[in-house]
Amino acid sequence: MASITERDRNVIWHPYTPMKLWPEAIGIVSGSDEFLFDEQGKRYIDAISSWWVTLHGHAHPYIAQKISEQLTKLEHCIFAGFTHEPAVQLAERLLTILPGKPEKIFFSDNGSTAVEVAIKMALQYYNNKGQKRKRIVALEHAYHGDTFGAMSVSGRSIFTEAFDSFLFDVDFIPFPNEENKEHSIATLKKLLANGDVAAFIIEPLVQGTAGMCMYPPEVLDAYFRLCKEQHTLIIADEVMTGFGRTGTLFACDTVSAAPDIICLSKGLTGGTMPLGVTACTIDVFNAFYDDDRGKTLYHGHSFTANPIACTAALASLDLLEKDESTENRKRIAARHTEFASLIANHKNVVAIRQAGTILAIELNTSMPTSYNHNKRDFIYSFFIDRGILIRPLGNIIYVMPPYCTSDESLMLIYSCIQELLLTLDNQ
Ligand SMILES: *Cc1c(COP(=O)(O)O)cnc(C)c1O
Repeated sequence: MASITERDRNVIWHPYTPMKLWPEAIGIVSGSDEFLFDEQGKRYIDAISSWWVTLHGHAHPYIAQKISEQLTKLEHCIFAGFTHEPAVQLAERLLTILPGKPEKIFFSDNGSTAVEVAIKMALQYYNNKGQKRKRIVALEHAYHGDTFGAMSVSGRSIFTEAFDSFLFDVDFIPFPNEENKEHSIATLKKLLANGDVAAFIIEPLVQGTAGMCMYPPEVLDAYFRLCKEQHTLIIADEVMTGFGRTGTLFACDTVSAAPDIICLSKGLTGGTMPLGVTACTIDVFNAFYDDDRGKTLYHGHSFTANPIACTAALASLDLLEKDESTENRKRIAARHTEFASLIANHKNVVAIRQAGTILAIELNTSMPTSYNHNKRDFIYSFFIDRGILIRPLGNIIYVMPPYCTSDESLMLIYSCIQELLLTLDNQ
């Protein structure tokens, strides 16, 4: 039979892929730990946790075991009028570890739907209370997903261009870099003072898709405090930052004010199964808890709280809560810091940023930050040729490895980055 790669070309349309420019997808047949293996047997170090989802490594035997047991017990059941142990247990466990004091868990199937649910919760919260609050504030260049609501609260970009006129109107505050963080906070304050803002949505500490743009907890705390003063609901989109990526279990663990609504996905199941969670406070929930059926949150998906996905999430939490995982996250963060200081002064490094296990390097390639840029394709292929999966965001390369990634693999990644810096020198 023809290779997976060849057959793929006839039938598959890939996500985020200019199909004419990138016709070849690498056929992956297996994975273990931080590695993926293609059909020729070539090994790739998965330095980006397969789009930020894999926490404990590929095909983890413990998660596989738990899933396989659950599969022969209950694979799926409707989640309206029915419930099951994996969903209840997962909700119980998440509520004990999530920042703030959320008391209810609403399930869906991915990060975008977790955000859609959060937006609907916030808008209907004020609708149910009979208050006119219809505005949403977000951070410039944000990314909250690809469905229409999630796109609306995301920065307008090449991703959204074709749909811009269909997206609802959102106020964006400037990204809080060192020079203008006071201005950013003041802008939020001014918008909130209008009294019509239902929700403020934000990626806490790290804006992933924007280019791993980072800002300090003090700024996040200042935003949150302003929202509390004005009774604007805070939606923390921890889809990427959740489950240990930024050093603490959740990015919002670094601030004293707590979000009202938290979105989770990606690492939730350790990267094994699609699952989304929107957690909220009892105050949010109570606005829907009424004899009037009109106050119901009429939202749901066929695979809401799928038992296999919930089981994968429970197994992932078991692994995440082990000392070994905590130590690994510290180890990776320490290695990143060492490497960062090694290359910080290189002339092709414009900026270098780190939050826990995430390391981002902004390259001086005199090119605009554009998803389609050729230099980006060159850098992607440079790493792929050397058996490393790194997907640059424009001129920003980043490493966000699964927590099981060995020092040896980290060193291979780092030395390849150094080789790239040399190569860019000579271009
Ligand atoms: C990836 C991402 C999403 C969207 O999640 P999907 O599962 O891809 O729909 C939302 N918010 C953030 C911060 C993300 O990184």
